[in-house]
Amino acid sequence: MHTKTAAVFTQNNKRYDVEKIRNDFPILKTTVHGKPLVYLDNAATTQKPQYVIDKENNYYKKYNANIHRGVHALSQEATEAFEESRIIVKKFINALGKNEIIFTRGTTESVNLVASTYGRENINEGDEIIISHMEHHSNIVPWQMLCQEKNSKLRVIPINDDGELIFEEFEKMINKRTKFISVVHASNSLGTVNPVKKIIDLAHSHNIPVMLDAAQAVNHLPIDVQELDCDFLAFSGHKLYGPTGIGILYGKVNHLDAMPPYMGGGDMISKVTFEETTYNELPHKFEAGTPHISGAIGLGAAIEYIEKIGLENIARYENELLIYATEAVSDLTGLRIIGTAKEKISVLSFHFENVHPHDVGTFLDFEGVAIRTGHHCTQPLMKRFNIPATSRASFGMYNTKEEVDLLVAGLKKILEVFG
Ligand code: PMP
Repeated sequence: MHTKTAAVFTQNNKRYDVEKIRNDFPILKTTVHGKPLVYLDNAATTQKPQYVIDKENNYYKKYNANIHRGVHALSQEATEAFEESRIIVKKFINALGKNEIIFTRGTTESVNLVASTYGRENINEGDEIIISHMEHHSNIVPWQMLCQEKNSKLRVIPINDDGELIFEEFEKMINKRTKFISVVHASNSLGTVNPVKKIIDLAHSHNIPVMLDAAQAVNHLPIDVQELDCDFLAFSGHKLYGPTGIGILYGKVNHLDAMPPYMGGGDMISKVTFEETTYNELPHKFEAGTPHISGAIGLGAAIEYIEKIGLENIARYENELLIYATEAVSDLTGLRIIGTAKEKISVLSFHFENVHPHDVGTFLDFEGVAIRTGHHCTQPLMKRFNIPATSRASFGMYNTKEEVDLLVAGLKKILEVFG
């Protein structure tokens, strides 16, 4: 298996060596129900290369200690590794300074942080916040909660039948009450890549700050926050071949400086008395308590690993897989692809006319093929397409055309059984 994948070439004209990459991921040798694992659930979470596993392990084996507060050698070593990861993240997204990189638990916490601090401080009664119809619940609910608290209004950019934002509608929505915009860079359910630069430029021409949910973008598209000029950006380590429980909030330093802290506790303070507390400088002001130290180190390692292969090379390869898979499923009877935008990351969501997505997922599991079925935490989007759920295959850097073939063979069997 996995030997016939047609060559895709990297920027410097070297063959994209998927076999070598696969060998770096121990879990890919697993069997499920006696069949080799075909892992096509990368939009939910990605697998971890040995390099990341080793880096996390080494912290626990060799220099486990709490950071920032210790003078002893292990604490200093742990602090250095933790802060080195912050610098790796800073360079990865080209932030201006490392004080703009806040470690959080993930995208969800990053959005909640901004809604609870920047939002509470700057959104008032009658103000409007704009999101889109394709948001993940984690970029809906925190804003909805804020709107309820402040008596402000959540407005939603509509999408067309291909799952693309209707930009003209967005333009019409902006008015003097619009105080914040938060949109997903790439949709986890549809794969759509949104025209975020255009959104940011238009918003900034009205002095409106923009937050990007980059949970699905960061492992498929090179991101330069200075070029994008976004005000905030959130992502999770586990979608980036890194650990769970760690993520990033990027924020422009002027915003972060002006925002009140999110949580109170150790590390985020400068001086505490019972009468008054002064807060630590950035980024520590937003990092109360002992953080996920091994996770941060693992995230840094994941970025190093990705950069060795090159995100652009990965993106090109994944796009080949997406095109191949899209063509392969398009003749299947009763199958409708949900999300046919011109620009997509490697997510293939579909719906069978006569088979429930749950049955599709369960059947494929017995073939060793792991996909996700459900609403993908985008219930309003499912409603927009008039379906309860989709089946979603999402491809990562280690998937192959042979694996796509196994997915399609499984789908054909499903049609025979249920069709
Ligand atoms: N936004 C998008 C687009 C996502 O795909 C996800 C994860 N499915 C999230 C936000 C939430 O990420 P996390 O659960 O890691 O906080």
